[in-house]
Amino acid sequence: MNILILGSGGREHALAWAVMQNPKCDKLIVAPGNAGIAQIAECADLDIMNGGAVAVFAEANAIDFVIVGPEAPLATGVADRLRDAGVLVFGPSEGAARLEASKSFTKEVCDASNAPTAGYGHFTDAEAAKAYIREQGAPIVVKADGLAAGKGVIMAFDIQTALDAIDDMFGGAFGGAGAEVVIEEFMEGEEASLFVLCDGENILSMGSAQDHKRVGDGDTGPNTGGMGAYSPAPVLSAEIEARAMEQIVQPTMAEMAKRGMPYQGVLYVGLMIKDGQPRLVEYNVRFGDPECQVLMMRLGAQAMDLMHAAAEGRLNDTRVNWGDDHAITVVMAANGYPGSYEKGSEINGLDALPENSKNMVFHAGTKAEGGAILASGGRVLNVTARGDTLQEARDRAYAMVEAIDWPGGFYRNDIGWRAL
Ligand code: ATP
Repeated sequence: MNILILGSGGREHALAWAVMQNPKCDKLIVAPGNAGIAQIAECADLDIMNGGAVAVFAEANAIDFVIVGPEAPLATGVADRLRDAGVLVFGPSEGAARLEASKSFTKEVCDASNAPTAGYGHFTDAEAAKAYIREQGAPIVVKADGLAAGKGVIMAFDIQTALDAIDDMFGGAFGGAGAEVVIEEFMEGEEASLFVLCDGENILSMGSAQDHKRVGDGDTGPNTGGMGAYSPAPVLSAEIEARAMEQIVQPTMAEMAKRGMPYQGVLYVGLMIKDGQPRLVEYNVRFGDPECQVLMMRLGAQAMDLMHAAAEGRLNDTRVNWGDDHAITVVMAANGYPGSYEKGSEINGLDALPENSKNMVFHAGTKAEGGAILASGGRVLNVTARGDTLQEARDRAYAMVEAIDWPGGFYRNDIGWRAL
């Protein structure tokens, strides 16, 4: 099979690494890819937001199967353009991608399917939004409706912060994404992510993971895209997972099919768990980054078969072959991240690290220049390891982190602390 992966982060490096292990993969192209991906696959310069261009590229390169990594191309209908051109693709349609691209849409689907989630109000008018905030009181969560790369969510612990957030959002702080807001009840509990494969009709759990959103040790400092993750997440016990499937995922999938938008791809189910009861925080329509890195490390070659089965509508007779293992990834980020940071610092010591089914450094934001690897983004490396226990995986990952010589970067020292 000739495979094309769209994207350029650590998530796509992990997807590429898993796909390359599958003997059914004859050729892999990643567009646009990055310096780490270029070490294992061919990279192509392609505008992945342009569905027409991607379809033409797929045809010209005899691509049999396309895996879409990030949400942005899905939200603009790239999967639809590929399907129109007769190309098999893993990833939801533009309509189904609204489960991530519009928070009010997701809330409405939850209402229609009775899925447990935070109480909310949806507003297109600033004064009405403010009146609702005054009526509900703090703590309260204010969210820009559309895609804002994780930055459109304000957790307000006093009313003034929430009112200011309304002014910012209606004042254009998030562009079009803020012309509509969703205001939510603040949910307490522990967060975990459940990954579910869907083929439009059948669903299959792809396991759990827990991310670390805050930049600093002990969950302190500002939010980031994610500073590390591990899988499985023990907080998501088999019982809670079954409850989430039954009360949240299955009804949502049935509602999407009923609306003529059957969901196909991976569904990231962000959950808040309290007293054994899961409630939905958010859906994402793609793998989490960095959660994908730990899932791929655990699944290995079968990941491609699973995605292929979802795309072909064969999940009813597909099983995940789980090992009794644990994986962890530690994100190394450029000094200053998530604020402003410098690009171009040199990273050394990568060549001496082991690369095998238990140890991998996935590149998230790097570029190769004159034989050197340079940092080119905020989150730069995802140092990932697998072990029989989380402790073993963690020790191995941090041993690799310490062997990397990069004065321009930093990392959290406590990834996995909740589970250990
Ligand atoms: P991302 O894609 O980066 O996860 P997002 O913009 O899609 O972010 P959400 O996932 O809705 O936004 O919210 C981001 C984070 O804010 C959640 O992971 C959670 O920690 C917190 N959060 C969101 N909604 C609530 C809520 N109702 N109660 C408590 N915490 C919340």
